[in-house]
Amino acid sequence: MPSNASTFSSGARSSGTKVATREKRRPACLRPSSRIWPPRQTRAENQPVRHWLRLACLAALPLLFSIPAHAWDIKSFSGRDHVPLDEIATFYGLGEATSPDTNTRSLKGSGRELIATLNSREMEIDGIKHWLAFPVMEESGHVYVSRLDLGKTIEPAFRPARIPDFPAVSTVVLDPGHGGKDNGARSPYEHEKNFALDVARRVRNELQKSGVRVILTRNSDSFIELADRAGVANRLTNSIFVSLHFNAADASQAANGFEIYCVTPRGAPSTAYEQIHTRDMVEENGNEHDIHSFALANAIYHAMQGRMEMFDRGVKRARFAVIRLAGVPSVLIEGGFLTNPSDARKVASKQWRDNYAASIARGILEYKKLAELHIAPREVAAYRSPELAPPPVAETSKPAPVPGVTLRDLPE
Ligand SMILES: [Zn+2]
Repeated sequence: MPSNASTFSSGARSSGTKVATREKRRPACLRPSSRIWPPRQTRAENQPVRHWLRLACLAALPLLFSIPAHAWDIKSFSGRDHVPLDEIATFYGLGEATSPDTNTRSLKGSGRELIATLNSREMEIDGIKHWLAFPVMEESGHVYVSRLDLGKTIEPAFRPARIPDFPAVSTVVLDPGHGGKDNGARSPYEHEKNFALDVARRVRNELQKSGVRVILTRNSDSFIELADRAGVANRLTNSIFVSLHFNAADASQAANGFEIYCVTPRGAPSTAYEQIHTRDMVEENGNEHDIHSFALANAIYHAMQGRMEMFDRGVKRARFAVIRLAGVPSVLIEGGFLTNPSDARKVASKQWRDNYAASIARGILEYKKLAELHIAPREVAAYRSPELAPPPVAETSKPAPVPGVTLRDLPE
């Protein structure tokens, strides 16, 4: 049992390996000196309200103040606050949950949609896969979502226009991954570093058409340290940082699709990890803009998924160096697997890369509109409506010719 379980509740009881307590009370972020995680305090966490917690609370405050605090029937699993899914449904006007199968709860209403999978960190929100920090729990027929996930994912996904304190977007820093001695992944056609630079230039061109100032961390085949890439954004007032990569899988050619990363909130495991580690307690530079980075990831990913046909691997969390060191809203995009024959063929097509770059630029512009005008970004369903559909990309059964020289010789 976590050391602070008794602080939160009397009547703690054991349920298998989980410790579950239940009481009606104010959420943790509205109580002085309380915390979501971890049970054990460190010196830094003894400060009355840490900055990360303030941000988590900021995201949740509109939600939590909008209805009486006592209405939230908070429950604790392993020392973490969880909120009942049916109360979340009521608050967002999602209606009654249906169960397409025993492990799934599907909710739809008020123009929103949420599909939760029990004992899983996968959750579909408005047609896009998201990866939660903690699994969705079930006990006695009730389903629960961690309060951290409510504040850091569900609330900013459903109500982005309510996110406070957006910095304006004066400059977009595009970061083509790898370069120079670091080739990155390799497809049958080209190195990742060259695809990344090519896409960055195409995104830049698209954004410049809309009058946006763009800076590339590299505009040639050069090697740049990871910290220096984030440093470019950190030196600029009101910048955002978008790192461009392509994926690779060692074990199998089957892995495919898009995914996008924003920094893992403090106190949560990254998507690639099942358990909390001491490492997860460190507050990174990037955590100052957790919610803004999530909003940026969501806006770009909806545009990518809405305009293009690629498998949806989801909005994920990681502490990759470039996004944890960037003290501005930042994301890292993986634009398909160079080790998957179908993805690799698409990426090798100039037309596909044009469409891909335009989709990323569209998402960035949607985010800019959100940050500066509080207009919610367009979502998958709107992009997929026929009048907004991009021209189809021709798929050939034969591999495209190797485009290496063309890529490296692209005009500035
Ligand atoms: Zn890469």
